Amino acid sequence: MTETEVDGSRLLIVDDDALMRSMACRTLSHAGFSVSEADGGAQALALFDLTRFDLVLLDVMMPDMDGYQVCHEIRRLPDGDRIPIIMLTGLNDTQSIELAYQAGATDFIAKPINWTLLTHRVRYALRASLAAESAIRSRDRLERAQRIANMGSWEIAGDNNSFVCSPELARLFGAPVEVMGCASPQAFLDRVTDTDRATVKAMREAAEREGVPYQLTFKVTRFDGAVRTVHEQANPVRDSAGRQIAVEGITQDITDQVETEKRISRLARYDALTGLPNREFFGKLAAKSLERARSASNTCALIYLDVDRFKSVNDAVGQQRANGVLVTLAERLTASVRDIEPKFAGHMASESVLARVGPNTFALLLIDIGDEQHAGAVTDQLLQSVSMPLAIDGSELVLTGSAGIALYPRDSGNNHDLARCAEQALHAAKSQGRAQRRFFDEAMNEYASIRLAKESELRRAIADRQLRVHYQAKVDARSGTMVGAEALVRWQHPTRGLVPPGDFIALAEESGQILALTACVLETVCSDLARWRNAGQTVVPVSVNLASPSFSSDALPAQLTDMVQRHGLTPASLVLEVTESILMADIDRVVVRLEGLRALGFSVSLDDFGTGYSSLSYLKRFPIDELKIDRTFVTDAWRGGRDGAIAASIIALGREFGLRVVAEGVETPEQAQHMVKMGCVYQQGFLFSRPVPADEFARLLDKPSLRDDDA
Ligand code: C2E
Ligand code: MG
Ligand code: MG
Repeated sequence: MTETEVDGSRLLIVDDDALMRSMACRTLSHAGFSVSEADGGAQALALFDLTRFDLVLLDVMMPDMDGYQVCHEIRRLPDGDRIPIIMLTGLNDTQSIELAYQAGATDFIAKPINWTLLTHRVRYALRASLAAESAIRSRDRLERAQRIANMGSWEIAGDNNSFVCSPELARLFGAPVEVMGCASPQAFLDRVTDTDRATVKAMREAAEREGVPYQLTFKVTRFDGAVRTVHEQANPVRDSAGRQIAVEGITQDITDQVETEKRISRLARYDALTGLPNREFFGKLAAKSLERARSASNTCALIYLDVDRFKSVNDAVGQQRANGVLVTLAERLTASVRDIEPKFAGHMASESVLARVGPNTFALLLIDIGDEQHAGAVTDQLLQSVSMPLAIDGSELVLTGSAGIALYPRDSGNNHDLARCAEQALHAAKSQGRAQRRFFDEAMNEYASIRLAKESELRRAIADRQLRVHYQAKVDARSGTMVGAEALVRWQHPTRGLVPPGDFIALAEESGQILALTACVLETVCSDLARWRNAGQTVVPVSVNLASPSFSSDALPAQLTDMVQRHGLTPASLVLEVTESILMADIDRVVVRLEGLRALGFSVSLDDFGTGYSSLSYLKRFPIDELKIDRTFVTDAWRGGRDGAIAASIIALGREFGLRVVAEGVETPEQAQHMVKMGCVYQQGFLFSRPVPADEFARLLDKPSLRDDDA
């Protein structure tokens, strides 16, 4: 601290003796201080209201109030406790000095005053005050920092094991003031939870005796009973000679941090909706459980369970309610597992794991299941719990589930392959009509590899131009005139001959090849149409079937426009056939897409109408041009009955919405006549023409009528 730091400090001289005041004033002003005067206690206290002083020189003997009393009063002022007060005692006896200190004086100077010494004494007092002030500030800063960091510091010193700790450490432990007064290393250790105490004690002793530093995370019980997690770091303190004189440490409450980390890791491992382990975490748990099962030579079962047609539930009740359904199902499955477990033959039952491994797929690993029969019975129980009625908004929903079961170690000895087996078994259960369970068997493995081979075969077929497009005429049944045609894809297989689309469209969709397939069909159709037109033939609009991925593809509108332009055609040459399931997927987006396609000039036809789940009332929301009555209703419509009624209402509906209605699969003259009678004149079916190769179809284009009697 330098002299300039105290220069300019504001001093107050309180003395009833005017001569004393002026002498002191002159001396101290000369030394560079700013000096105020007061002739007694009352004036001094009044001045304190106006100005802040850095130091007070106070006479003891004054008529109005004695110096002790004034000192006492100053100390009670808001800032008064830190100001150095030097008493001017005329009486150099121990009693008055004692009284001065009792009243709160910092120092005293005996009269008569040595004026040269006075300046030094004042400077010294000011510097000491500044030093104390700055120490207090840095202590405050340290306390603040510790409070922010939820951290306290402590020190165990020397041979007598004395313990000092920061107020923050007390706060951390929720310790009452009286306890802190007699805090000891032992009292601190007593707060450590039983499980951690021995370790903390050992580490601390090693630090005290041998100067071994440590870092440790452990739990403590606060005075209010709360258990917190703390992290402690301790280091030896050495003197200049290198001797250890103390151990100092910091203890930080990291409970919130630990909780946050736990929450984050929970989110990464568990499904947020159902609270069950997610797919990744299930994999890890299953691997561990199987590892133990291996050493205990247990038989385990891995069950994959799918909620059937869950997508329709989603479409029908909305995602939020559908999520509620999943939560209920997860609860039911959990309860079933709990119910099943005690009946197990083995004792490892509690290790079974239930997880949500897909949007509507659950997986259950059962440890020590015994035999195949037992696994089947358990699965039946799970499927039953899925199919119990559910209440949604006052109405009842009944769902079913399909399940695939793989057995360990019979089907596979490793976690990954076992999951693959269960998935394949599930796939089999679903493709065989759902609402059932299937065990994995080797045949499925074979099936899967055949499927894989088929996928790559199809990929080659698309690239090598083995796909063919056949055309089936759409006619006005009254005259037999062709009014349109439908493009139907076939696969000219090098060994198997002409393969129908039913055998490969689903495969193309599942293996991500449908976009390439659609592009190939569209390209062929456009080039055929252009060729016929260039040859001078009258062409008709051709319908192309679009699978869901093609219809929703962002590239579709541009792709279609580009294709018709390249072949010099108009968009009116193409009709896009979509199915109800495509329309129901995401109604708002679908409507935007349909409007976009129609604005570009393409027509849209709704294929296989009547077979889907959509309610007829939805129909008016979709901007479409044509409705195709599915063959199932056309075949028997002429007999009346239920099919006849459905066909009649579809026709009426189409008329109401101004749509062209086409009857599909018309095979006999009776069927054709009946449909015409009901008002459905546009027809497609073997009666008029089967789907035929392009060249053959070109010849049909020239025929005025496709009716047998006219032919
Ligand atoms: P779809 O679009 O409903 O096509 C009509 C199906 O009914 C065709 O079967 C056709 O041959 C058949 N059919 C027509 N008239 C009669 C009849 O009088 N009696 C009977 N029994 N059947 C008749 P195909 O060609 O086997 O096609 C089956 C389905 O494959 C099509 O049903 C369509 O959904 C799909 N498909 C065909 N080509 C394509 C394509 O290029 N892309 C896509 N995504 N799907 C296609
Ligand atoms: Mg079609
Ligand atoms: Mg159809």
